[in-house]
Amino acid sequence: MAGVVLKDLTKEFKEVIAVNKVNLEIKDKEFLVLVGPSGCGKTTALRMIAGLEEASSGEIRIGDRVVNDVSPKDRDIAMVFQNYALYPHMSVYDNMSFGLRLKREPTGKPWPLNSKRTFHKVEIDRRVNEAASLLGLETLLQRKPKQLSGGQRQRVALGRAIVREPKVFLMDEPLSNLDAKLRVQTRAELIKLHRRLGITTVYVTHDQVEAMTMGDRIAVMNHGLVQQCDTPLNLYNHPVNIFVAGFIGSPAMNFVPVTPKAEGDAVWLDAGAFKVELPKELADKARGYVGKESLFGIRPEDFYDKSLVGLVTPTSGNTISVEVEVIEPLGNDVEIYLTTGTQQLIAMIDSKTQAKVEEKLDIVLDLEKSHLFDKDTEAAIY
Ligand code: ATP
Repeated sequence: MAGVVLKDLTKEFKEVIAVNKVNLEIKDKEFLVLVGPSGCGKTTALRMIAGLEEASSGEIRIGDRVVNDVSPKDRDIAMVFQNYALYPHMSVYDNMSFGLRLKREPTGKPWPLNSKRTFHKVEIDRRVNEAASLLGLETLLQRKPKQLSGGQRQRVALGRAIVREPKVFLMDEPLSNLDAKLRVQTRAELIKLHRRLGITTVYVTHDQVEAMTMGDRIAVMNHGLVQQCDTPLNLYNHPVNIFVAGFIGSPAMNFVPVTPKAEGDAVWLDAGAFKVELPKELADKARGYVGKESLFGIRPEDFYDKSLVGLVTPTSGNTISVEVEVIEPLGNDVEIYLTTGTQQLIAMIDSKTQAKVEEKLDIVLDLEKSHLFDKDTEAAIY
C-alpha cells in the first residue's frame, strides 16, 4: 500500500502548459478524483503518475520512492482506461492473466540473463480466481470479449488491473463507454471494490456527479491548475472560487452581479431587479465590499416557493418576485426557469408548487447557503 505525492508537478507541450505546478498529497487507501472540463490537464497528470508521460519539472512520489525516473512497469501501478483494450482472440481468463504471464515473480535476487520465468501457474490461478469472484466473473472466464456485455468487459479490464495487486490504481474515465444505467451500477460496484481492496486510487473524470459520488476527496482542475482539493461536501458548501462553485452541482449555481449596500447594521445585496438582506454573520463578511460590484451565487436547490411550507421562513429580506418562463417536471421536484428584470435564474422546487408559466411567483432564498465572490479575483468572499 502507498500514498502518492505530487510536488510542483508540471508538464509543458511546447507553448501549452497542460499541468501547472500541481501539488497533491493522496493518502494511502484514499480514492481521489481528478475532475475538470476537457483540456484541464487531468489525463496528463494521471499519465505522468503512470510514467506514460515524462514530467517537465516537479516530483512524483509513490510510497516512499521518487518515481520520476522509474519505468511504468516498475511503479507498482495498474491502469484502467475508458477503452478497455481487451485482446479479442483471448478468453477472459487469458486477458486477466496476460500481464502476470509476462511479469517475473519478484524474488529479491538478480535474474539470470534471458530468464523467461513468470508467475507460477498456481499463483496466477489464485489471483485470477480471486479477482473473478470479487467481480462476479467466475462463470465467464472461458468466454471471449465479444461474448460479453459492455459492463462485463469493463469488469474484465478491472480484473486485469486487480490481479497485478498494485499499490496504486490509476483510472481514466473507466465508465464513460457504458450506458447511463450501467454507469451508475458500475460506479457503486467500484466504490464497494475500493472499500474491500483498500488500494489507493486516482480516478479521472469530467463528470462532476461521478466525482461527487465516488471521491473521498476531489481535486477540481482548470487550465492545468488545481483550483481546490477537498471532500465532496466541502466543495459543494464552501467553493473557494467562481470556477469551483459553477462546476460542482447540477444544475449549476446561479450567479447574479450585485452591489452590497449598508443600511444601518444590515447589508443588502442590490441586484437592480431585486434586493436581499444578508443574515448577520454573512453581512459581517460582506461589509468590506459595500459599494463594490460583486457576484452573488445561489444554488437552484436553495430556492423555495413562498406559498409552500419550506425550510426557510419568508421575510421581506429573502423573498423576491419573479416571472416563470419554463417548468420542467422531474418527479419529486420541478426545475423552473425564472426571470427578474434582465436576470435569468434556475430554481429546483417541490413539485407541489402551483407555479404556472408566464405568471408571477414569490420565491424565498435560503441566504444562509448563498455565496458571494470578488469579481476581480473570482475568490469567495464567503
Ligand atoms: P479530456 O477530458 O478532454 O481528456 P484532459 O483534462 O484530460 O481533457 P489533457 O488530455 O490532460 O486534458 O490535456 C491538457 C492540455 O494539454 C490540452 O490543452 C491538450 O490539448 C494538451 N495536450 C495533451 N497532450 C498533448 C500532446 N501530446 N501534445 C501537445 N499538447 C497536448
